[in-house]
Amino acid sequence: MLWRLPGGSCGFAPYVVRRTLIPDLVLDAYGAQGGVGVTFEDGRIVDIGPAKRGERLTGKALAPGFVNDHSHAFQRGLRGAVERIEPSHPLDDFWTWRERMYALANELTPDSIRKVSRRCYEEMLSAGYTSVTEFHYVHHRPDGTSYRDPNALAKAVARAAEDTGIRLLLLPVAYARGGLPRFRDPSVRAFLERVDTLVEWSEGRSLVEAGVAAHSVRAVPRGWLEEIGEYAQRNSLPLHIHADEQPREIEECQAEHGMRPIELLARTGFLGPGTTIIHATHANAKELDLLSEHDASVCACPTTEGNLGDGFLPAEEILQRNIHLSIGSDSHVRIAPCEELRELETNARRLSGRRNVLVAEHETSPTPWLLRAGWDRVGLKAGDPADLIEIDLSHPALADVGARNLPSALVFGAGSGVLVGTWVEGRKVHGPDDPVG
Ligand SMILES: [Zn+2]
Repeated sequence: MLWRLPGGSCGFAPYVVRRTLIPDLVLDAYGAQGGVGVTFEDGRIVDIGPAKRGERLTGKALAPGFVNDHSHAFQRGLRGAVERIEPSHPLDDFWTWRERMYALANELTPDSIRKVSRRCYEEMLSAGYTSVTEFHYVHHRPDGTSYRDPNALAKAVARAAEDTGIRLLLLPVAYARGGLPRFRDPSVRAFLERVDTLVEWSEGRSLVEAGVAAHSVRAVPRGWLEEIGEYAQRNSLPLHIHADEQPREIEECQAEHGMRPIELLARTGFLGPGTTIIHATHANAKELDLLSEHDASVCACPTTEGNLGDGFLPAEEILQRNIHLSIGSDSHVRIAPCEELRELETNARRLSGRRNVLVAEHETSPTPWLLRAGWDRVGLKAGDPADLIEIDLSHPALADVGARNLPSALVFGAGSGVLVGTWVEGRKVHGPDDPVG
């Protein structure tokens, strides 16, 4: 069903307020159903159910778009450039990779960060991500002085998202020590003032939302963790931090604070229901218990963690504790949501010597838990943003797969090539031109 209103005040293309798409199948984490229409209005799904009238998507399935919960968009510039040993660093590891990443970060300008971010976000849309959480820590000029607008680089990233049509959660990241001068703010007060301004700026933008983050326990002191945690809670903002990615970071934290990173986060009031821990690769049982007790989440980035030699996510332990999990493409060595999900289960199988390991209670397959982590929902439902992916059921990777097995085939047997369309807020932002547009 389709209604059109006359063009908006700027006289651009007609604005579609209500529309019904009828694919062959509508996919959720448990299976797929035919004869179902998805109706959206002003960017939100208003109805899912039996539909006879609407636009047919023959040979296609619709599913929720994937949520990319951790990104450093500029690191897309390292693609292919860091897969060889440098003579000056015969033993390559996370820390030598970081030097290469710093060199790239030091060259960024507002124009170049917008350009590389745009390329990265376009690739995300083509891979089925409809929203991205940008963990943004390149704030100032290379010598550490502010741009005329102290949020110039953050806004350049936000504009890149708007250029492409991806939904963005923008997290300005606190950095007090180490790294490059342009990452750092002189005080937590100066940092939070910048965050205030950015939150206010983002409020009028439909695709952009702002939260807050601290880089890691090595980059910010204890007092900053306390203030940022309190600020996020007071303002009901999402709060993220890298933790437990590398053993050295844990050793340094123990030497400075006498406890492990997630223990420190719990002690400083940083952990809460709005907190997401990025990586948690080396989190021990006590730290995972703390995450569970505080209702905090974990974001895993398996393709990056594999590429950097970080280790394996304690995924079984996270599942057993019912800790909310999301995925991120982080350094963008790959931008492929199903590959992140597949790696979670495949790594768990390698570690345990079993099959079908990450199976939630009362379920028989890892697929529903993995897709819930990737979509941050079970399936499409009324009230949600109309952020959708369109899957080609005739693609060789999915041919002859029955509706019941389609979710598992997507996770375990398909790549992003099966996607033929991506919709954000009810607008087609990737794929062949939408005749309604
Ligand atoms: Zn990261």
